[in-house]
Amino acid sequence: MKISFSNHHEAFREEIKDFLNRTLTDELKQAAAFCPGTFLDYTHNMAWHKLLYAQGWVAPAWPKAYGGTGWDLMQRYLWTTETSLAGAPTTAPMGLGMCGPMLIGHGNDRQKAHYLPRILSGEDYWCQGYSEPTSGSDLASLKLKASSAGDNLILNGSKIWTTHAHYANRMFILVRTNDAGKPQDGITFLLLDMDSPGITVEPILFASGTHEVNQVFFDNVYVPKQNIVGQENQGWTVAKYLLEFERGGGGAARFQIALNKLKLLAKSTNADGLRLIDDPAFTNQLARTGVQIESIQFTEFRIMAALSKGSSPGPESSMMKTLSADMGQHLSALMVEAMGFYASVDQPQAREVGQNIAAIGPADGIAAFSRYFNLRASSIAGGSNEVQRNIMAKRVLGL
Ligand SMILES: Cc1cc2nc3c(=O)[nH]c(=O)nc-3n(C[C@H](O)[C@H](O)[C@H](O)COP(=O)(O)OP(=O)(O)OC[C@H]3O[C@@H](n4cnc5c(N)ncnc54)[C@H](O)[C@@H]3O)c2cc1C
Repeated sequence: MKISFSNHHEAFREEIKDFLNRTLTDELKQAAAFCPGTFLDYTHNMAWHKLLYAQGWVAPAWPKAYGGTGWDLMQRYLWTTETSLAGAPTTAPMGLGMCGPMLIGHGNDRQKAHYLPRILSGEDYWCQGYSEPTSGSDLASLKLKASSAGDNLILNGSKIWTTHAHYANRMFILVRTNDAGKPQDGITFLLLDMDSPGITVEPILFASGTHEVNQVFFDNVYVPKQNIVGQENQGWTVAKYLLEFERGGGGAARFQIALNKLKLLAKSTNADGLRLIDDPAFTNQLARTGVQIESIQFTEFRIMAALSKGSSPGPESSMMKTLSADMGQHLSALMVEAMGFYASVDQPQAREVGQNIAAIGPADGIAAFSRYFNLRASSIAGGSNEVQRNIMAKRVLGL
């Protein structure tokens, strides 16, 4: 199947390429290429964010009325594809990809006017307070207690796996405001300042040694009730709406680039003096992966066609979330295989941007092992693959 783009969209593609040629520095490309996890470090993330903000392109999925680009789905697809092909970083999703769209859909006028411009400018950096030590997949069982005290709620309890809470100055959080009735009916969606007295952020280190997630403790933290999004005890609807944006994904271009890197590596002579391209088992894997990436590509097109008729992503976002998590993990495992002995070299300093430490082994694989470890989390974070399959079984297949 051959998909072609209109002249208007091809002209837009050239505009993107021109912008990337002018703006995307080697330092940013290196930061993206050597990033061991899903999230870029704060400094480079914000450097890229500010460049996009200056161009007016920081929020490709937001409507123009709220400071977004107002791009159509095809333009957004071209943006994702061309930035991936150019090796550009991605922006952190908690503000631009989750909190912003949630506020546009469910925030009141005051909340939109206050928070949306600050997300766009990068003045506010958000983290997501959903999961708790005993509530993950079964999110509605969450317990973090919010007691009413005049115009405030007082929070006590803990959130866990909170990505980048150590950088964030804001958190969107689900709290329990009522214990009676169905668990879903007593949840409230709140916005809070991370520097509120009583909040403590404790790091959790990944097996690869990187610090992305945290446990956050709340000890009598006061949050004004005006920071409730929607109605008290009706936060579940807002929470689910936001998750549809969190689980959107895809990025076949990103996978294609990883596959191209693998093909190049396979053609070079490895530590044993052999070439993987001469190993039929490995080339078979490469060919199968290529076909799978193409099928992800067409699934993306299919979802885009469906989305162009509706307003929010819906359960199809579960499909892309699962496909993307599986493919990311598969490619990272192939990369470790292709690197052979070199994959086990631990050189975190060589991944730092601007250093002049030579990589031991192929430079492309310098983050291979830590990425392999970190990507194990992608089939858990944002809702596990098993839970996504339950959603698809129920809402897509009607089982
Ligand atoms: C890297 C990373 C970053 C994260 N960032 C954030 C963040 O910023 N903010 C936040 O709030 N949370 C975050 N999370 C938490 C994430 O959303 C939860 O880990 C996830 O929802 C799973 O919950 P759990 O870890 O409690 O596992 P559990 O819910 O205990 O699940 C354990 C296992 O049981 C399976 N399982 C559970 N229920 C079912 C079912 N009904 N049917 C079939 N199988 C089932 C799961 O698939 C899983 O394999 C992050 C997690 C990771 C790993």
